[in-house]
Parts: sequence; structure tokens; C-alpha cells
Amino acid sequence: MKIIDGLKLDFKDVLILPKRSKAVSRSEVVVTRKFKNKLGKDIEVVPIIAANMDTVATFDMAVALAKHGCMTALHKHYTVEEYVEFFTKNQDISKYVFYSLGINEKDIEKLKAVQNVCGENISAICIDVANGYTDHFVEKVKRIIAQVGSKFIMAGNVVTPNMVEELIMAGVDIVKCGIGPGSACTTRVKTGVGYPQLSCVLECADAAHGMNKYICSDGGCTVPGDVAKAFGANADFVMLGGMLAGHKECNGKVITKYYMGDEVIRNNSLDSTPLLKKFDPVVDEKKFVEFYGMSSKVAQEKHGNGLAEYKASEGKSVLVPYRGEVAGTIQEILGGVRSCCTYVGTSKLKDLGKCTTFIRSSVQENRVFG
Ligand code: 5GP
Repeated sequence: MKIIDGLKLDFKDVLILPKRSKAVSRSEVVVTRKFKNKLGKDIEVVPIIAANMDTVATFDMAVALAKHGCMTALHKHYTVEEYVEFFTKNQDISKYVFYSLGINEKDIEKLKAVQNVCGENISAICIDVANGYTDHFVEKVKRIIAQVGSKFIMAGNVVTPNMVEELIMAGVDIVKCGIGPGSACTTRVKTGVGYPQLSCVLECADAAHGMNKYICSDGGCTVPGDVAKAFGANADFVMLGGMLAGHKECNGKVITKYYMGDEVIRNNSLDSTPLLKKFDPVVDEKKFVEFYGMSSKVAQEKHGNGLAEYKASEGKSVLVPYRGEVAGTIQEILGGVRSCCTYVGTSKLKDLGKCTTFIRSSVQENRVFG
């Protein structure tokens, strides 16, 4: 047994120091960045990625986020026909879309089938497992890379520089970093395993940048300020699940609850309830959408054969308030990141890391009004 004693930090443990600078207007801040793919070609995008969860990263989400230059790692549960139709119809946004898969044979065969019909329309691949530390994973990553050629490859998840380097040596362009910080994740509670996300990003980015490759900070962002902190810690990409959940584009079932004070008096839209509301102004109506972790019991029952006896679910299922179209949320996130750039005196997101000094802080927000 060994203890690593040095202090490791999360987003909630720091703030970003404002710096004296020439005035930069928020409207001048460039939030796109150029990334080199394996062929040396530049791909210019806003480096925010919707997480490959079936309650977030839908085809509709990909189309909506591409309008803002943002990316989507599509969830892996569409059929071959559905992927083929999407990639064929949406060639103009292909640079914003990752095709995601795990490492089981079924996933690899499905990718082959999609690739055979519309492979040229897929620019980027996301190879995703909960634990990126096994030899088996590295071998499968190499095999998938050999299968897809020069596409932009993101793979993970890991949290330490040694494994970032190993994946880059295996041919990965973007290493996905984060174990346990996710909003629908229970890994830290169930297994005790994890790594504070800000330190994970700082350390993993250092390793990847030394090899001229990239990292994606995956999980743990709860507010736009956390996204700015992840970029400030030198993440090249930031992946978001919970912050993009609950929108129209998530295509989840919308559940309506009717409240009297704090008490739920009825779930869903039973015929008589709107009448009740019409005549009783004390009845309040709130809409929610389901959001669950991809290794939660709900996800495993939906997409697999339920939870295997030897496995614990490492994800949870929650109802999040319905938030309408994702455009407003993206504007809020990008607005926060732009503003952060002006506070530290840069007009380019690309330089945010260089301009960032973190201050350790035990308080983030004045909670007097909740
Ligand atoms: P969020 O932005 O919601 O904090 O984190 C999103 C990330 O949580 C995903 O990209 C993925 O890495 C992780 N995640 C999603 N579902 C699960 C799950 O069921 N269990 C665990 N351990 N992590 C999950």
C-alpha cells in the first residue's frame, strides 16, 4: 500500500485570478481552435463535446451543436441503418461528430458495417470504456485505429500521464481524461476509485502536449465557470453530460409533475390535471426529462441484458428539469468562457491555459439566496 500525499484539486477548489491587460471585448474572443489530424490537416471547431450518453448525444443534439461550432460524440446505441442515414445526410457537419464505440466485438463489427457504406463521411471516432488501464483496451484501440485509418481518434478514460502517453503511442490523438467525476456516475462511491478532475487535467495535458497531442477533460463540469477552469488547466476539449441534459434535443421522455406547494399531487399528463390546473391556480406544473449514467441499472436494462450478477451499477438515474432548446445553454457556456478570457486578458480560447493562474479557494459562491 502507498499514499500519494501531494494536494490534488477539483474545479470547486480553485478560482481563476483576474489579470491586468489591454481591454479585450467579449465579442472579440475567438472560441474556435484548430487541431491537427493525422494527415496534418487543421480541423477548426469549438472544443466542447456532448458526452456519448443516450440521454444527451443524439442526432438532433449533433445538428443543434454543430450550428454553434460545438461537437457531439454520438451515443453508440443507434442501428447501422440509422448511422448510415445520419452520416449520409449530414456530411456538412461531419467534422463536429464523433462515431462512438466500446471495445466489444459487436461494437467493432457495427463500426465496420457503417464504415463500409459511409466511412468517408466519418471524421472522428471516440473509443470509450470506463477503465482505460487494461492491456486489452490498448490492444483493441490499436486494432480499431488500424481499421479506420487516419481518422481523428479520441480514446479513454484514464487519469494519469503514464496512460496518456501509452494511448498516444498506440495512435490516439485525443486522450479522454476523467474517472469518477460525472454527474450520473457512482464509481467513486461504489469502488473508491477516482482522481480530482482539475489535477487530472493539469497533469494529463502536460503529458499529451509534450507529445503534440491533445486531451479532453471528461466529466465534473457543473457550471460554465468549471468549463473555463478545465480550459484554463490546459484541456484542449471539454466533454459535457449533465450540463447538456434535459434539452429538447435529448429526445428523452418529458415527464410532467403537478405540485401543490412542495407536494407532488400527480405525475404525467393525466387528462383531468390540466383542468385541475386551470381552475386551481395553486397547482403548479413542472416538466422533467430522464438522465442516467451509461452504466446505471436503467441503461443496462435498456441496452443490454440487465445488470450481470457479478457487476455493480456505477451510474445513477435522475430527473432533470426540462430546459427547452440547447441553444440557450450553449450561449451561456460560451458566454462564460468568453468572459473568462477577457478577465485574464486573452482574445483566444487557445491561449487561456497560458494566461491562467489558479488561486486555491474554499468558497465558490455566496449562497445566501440559495
Ligand atoms: P458530466 O458532464 O455529466 O459530469 O459527466 C459526463 C461523463 O460521465 C461522461 O462523458 C462519462 O465519462 C461519465 N459517465 C456517464 N455515465 C456514467 C456511468 O454510468 N458511470 C460512470 N462511472 N461514469 C459515467
